[in-house]
Amino acid sequence: MSTTIDSIPTTFEPGTPGYEAARAGFDLSAIPAPELAVSARDEADVAAAVRFAAERGMPLGVRTTGHGPVRGADGGVLVDTRALSWVTVDPTGRTAVVGGGATWTPVLAACAPSGLIPLCGSSPDVGVASYTMGGGLSPLGRLHGWAADMVRRVRLVTADGEVRDVTADSDPELFAAVRGGGGNLGIATELEFDLVPGDAMYGGGLFQPGECAPELLATFGRVTASAPDALSLSVAFVTFPDLDVVPAPLRGRYVAHLRVTFVGAPAEAERLIAPLRAVATPILDSVRPLPVLEFGTIHGDPARPQPVSSGGTVLPAWDDAAIEVLLGDIGPATPHMLELRHLGGALARPAAVQDCVGHRDAAFNVFTSAYPGPAFADAARLQTAFHQRLLPWSGGRSLFNFTSRPDGGPIDPRAVFEPATLARLQQVKAAVDPQGLFRPGVAIAAPALAGVSA
Ligand SMILES: Cc1cc2nc3c(=O)[nH]c(=O)nc-3n(C[C@H](O)[C@H](O)[C@H](O)COP(=O)(O)OP(=O)(O)OC[C@H]3O[C@@H](n4cnc5c(N)ncnc54)[C@H](O)[C@@H]3O)c2cc1C
Repeated sequence: MSTTIDSIPTTFEPGTPGYEAARAGFDLSAIPAPELAVSARDEADVAAAVRFAAERGMPLGVRTTGHGPVRGADGGVLVDTRALSWVTVDPTGRTAVVGGGATWTPVLAACAPSGLIPLCGSSPDVGVASYTMGGGLSPLGRLHGWAADMVRRVRLVTADGEVRDVTADSDPELFAAVRGGGGNLGIATELEFDLVPGDAMYGGGLFQPGECAPELLATFGRVTASAPDALSLSVAFVTFPDLDVVPAPLRGRYVAHLRVTFVGAPAEAERLIAPLRAVATPILDSVRPLPVLEFGTIHGDPARPQPVSSGGTVLPAWDDAAIEVLLGDIGPATPHMLELRHLGGALARPAAVQDCVGHRDAAFNVFTSAYPGPAFADAARLQTAFHQRLLPWSGGRSLFNFTSRPDGGPIDPRAVFEPATLARLQQVKAAVDPQGLFRPGVAIAAPALAGVSA
């Protein structure tokens, strides 16, 4: 008997109340257009929606917050996981169990009383499941590794509609694939992962005039070359809009935003970043002892839903010629933000239980992102041209979670995974989703279908 979803009252068709809320999230540039949007109330709803789509050969997409590209749902079924938002923390075992629709905000809140913290990314508004399954690059990553490395268990609804508790013991290959392979293997309804100490953090943002970019970047290169794993640095060059939501000193200004995360004594952090501080008098300085709950203020990512156009790539090493390309791209008139994150440290070391995070050995992540403004219409073209100029150094490689084409076009998974990792992922895909039901932004095809998604 074929599966029906009539019994799920939170299933919405176009034009019905609930449809818009179920499909629209943070990024308003690519809102999916499903025939049915299922706001799953629990794991059983997720499984029913998957079976419903699979039995009818309908496209299927997944959406938690809409921070990433939500692909695959047009003309088919969209599963909205937000109601699966439970969070429990075990302070003694230093672990957390969270629903597949949770964001980092409640996880940080649940961790704070015990002085623990997850390997959350720059924005606490992002969904835990997709972020973690896509690798998960945290400002604490240089000290502790990728968020995917911390996972103990993933509860996954696979393409056959079955629910699997996936661990290193239950299914080693699927466990490896789901930690780095993103949403290609199924829909996560629950994750269990390790937490790390969060009671000795120091960090925040240091804003300097954008005109100091050449000296600041040169200093950034020297400081990161000898930085201990406890220090994570990134720098973004951005022209802030002249809006009330922006702190007054930054409104309408082109600035360099240095982001500092350190675990250890404040005096040691200050010693390490002193050369960067010396470049220019700060316009704004929020570097301080950092409570767990304020982790999101290090980067201060935008929270308001709006159209976004972005692109990312990695650099294998510091190279002055590549930095010249960055310098050529930034300036007060550039419509996109350009961010350089230092990687390395524990990010470059193997996970205790091998996973499928691509490009662990990259030295820097280069990310561009544009939000609506006077030159937004040009943003995709300019970002694409910039990332092309970086090709001699980047080789077009990128991290799963930072892979999106500014023009919204399809992504070749060979850009995201080394050949051996991609071959491993394709084998697992062939075993659990041979028809390619799950097709996230970086879609992996089973070997028989290889070439379809690239
Ligand atoms: C402002 C901002 C800051 C960011 N900072 C970081 C960062 O510091 N480090 C980092 O690594 N990444 C970062 N990212 C990238 C982010 O991790 C990815 O975009 C991620 O996919 C967002 O997941 P989501 O669930 O919030 O978004 P959604 O758009 O809801 O989901 C994106 C895709 O993820 C998959 N997915 C979502 N939920 C599930 C689920 N329960 N099970 C299976 N698949 C699912 C689906 O394929 C879905 O289409 C950032 C993104 C933004 C916009």
